[in-house]
Amino acid sequence: MIKDAAAVILLRQNTNPKNPEVYWVKRSNKLAFLGGFHAFPGGQIDAADSEVEVRNAPNPVTATMISGAARELFEELGVLVAHGSELLTRGQRASLLDDLESGRMSWPGLLQHYDLYLDASDFTFAGRWVTPPFSPRRFDTWFFLVNCPNKQEPNVVPGELLNGEWILTTDAIARWTRGDVTAVPPTLHALKTLASGITADLVHRFLSIPQAHGEPTRRIEFRPNYICFPVRTPTRPPATHTNCYLVYTSKEILIFDPGSPYDDEQAALAKMIDELQAEGRKVREIILTHLHPDHVGGVNALQKHLAAQTPVAAHTQTAEALTDIRVDRLIEDRDLIRLRGEPAIELRAVHTPGHARGHLCFHDAQRGVLLTGDNVVGLGSVLIDPPQGNMIDYLKSLERMRALEGLRILLGGHGPAMASPYEKIDEYINHRLEREAKILEAVRSGITVPTDIVSAVYTDVSPKVYGMAERSVIAHLEKLETEGRL
Ligand SMILES: [Zn+2]
Repeated sequence: MIKDAAAVILLRQNTNPKNPEVYWVKRSNKLAFLGGFHAFPGGQIDAADSEVEVRNAPNPVTATMISGAARELFEELGVLVAHGSELLTRGQRASLLDDLESGRMSWPGLLQHYDLYLDASDFTFAGRWVTPPFSPRRFDTWFFLVNCPNKQEPNVVPGELLNGEWILTTDAIARWTRGDVTAVPPTLHALKTLASGITADLVHRFLSIPQAHGEPTRRIEFRPNYICFPVRTPTRPPATHTNCYLVYTSKEILIFDPGSPYDDEQAALAKMIDELQAEGRKVREIILTHLHPDHVGGVNALQKHLAAQTPVAAHTQTAEALTDIRVDRLIEDRDLIRLRGEPAIELRAVHTPGHARGHLCFHDAQRGVLLTGDNVVGLGSVLIDPPQGNMIDYLKSLERMRALEGLRILLGGHGPAMASPYEKIDEYINHRLEREAKILEAVRSGITVPTDIVSAVYTDVSPKVYGMAERSVIAHLEKLETEGRL
């Protein structure tokens, strides 16, 4: 289900229109949704948001979205964009915020009680973006441009946000280009649009692309030169899509895991690749992280589309197991792929079996980017299904990924990018070891049949995934046996 949300692009008081300053925040690494990302303050609409009267609003829906945007801005940064608030002292605003946060007062009740009102003319609509379908949580977010009121300074309220700062939009883009920050497409679009200055056609420029009108983004560039292009695949729930990655320079494109068997999705991907090629690039290779159908389902169709002999590359163990896809080039552990053109990009293959025998990750050491395939994903869990899956190998692979230095972002086969790599990999390792300890405990208490172990150990998951859990239990039992612990 797609939920309504609102966000505020807060402009500094009297900012230079030629190079405006905006307030951006860094989301806590602990958040399941876009943890560690840079973004604008905002969040989900509350039921009570619609009870606020917003003067000059063109319709009730817009009024609700403005009310939600104003509330989120107040809750997250302590900035209150309401008429009448100019009469409040800083201390009074803080106590209002406390009333709201503690639940002593509702948002509509608070505005009414202190004789405050919202006015739609303070909130300039700047687009409506829908989270792509690859995400565990999806939002239809309305963005509003707001001038920070005089005598109010934003301050991040601890919790969901780590920190925040005023930043020149040109500096923000430079930081993204350097790979220092991770951001989603609407944030980047807003920064780029503002960086061209606050002009008469500013709103027009904000709204000039279809994605700003609720059409989900297909081209997602969490980091420069790495396009994440989710395609619909017959994959395992909760995932519905597999991420195809296009890594490009001025001259070449590498395509990782074109996984969709569906015509419409293959056509959409082909169109994106055609656009990149029309700008003077050439597809160098199609690379497979591993053999699963949701990662290779579109390879033959894409090769046909590209007409020219675009080679397919994969690990030996993937090549051997694939029957209807011809692998032209074998990739071994530690092989280096150096792209021609600008900027310089080098990817080092890392053989990481466990989920699949020939599984490869790809490491861009210069940028701290790791393409993780299905070893670590942004949505759902990783299936270790023997005999293709092996728990000893998998944990070793996670340790090996963990040991790579300078990681800044993980780009997984499903779900959004992960901006705190080491925390994420640790979470994966700990989760497996905790399960294993419980399985060992169950076996020692006399439970010996895998299905019974599942119901004893997997008390926190829906019975729907018991089948998958059983495969994991078997993988853990194999590991414990090999290690002589059973
Ligand atoms: Zn897989």
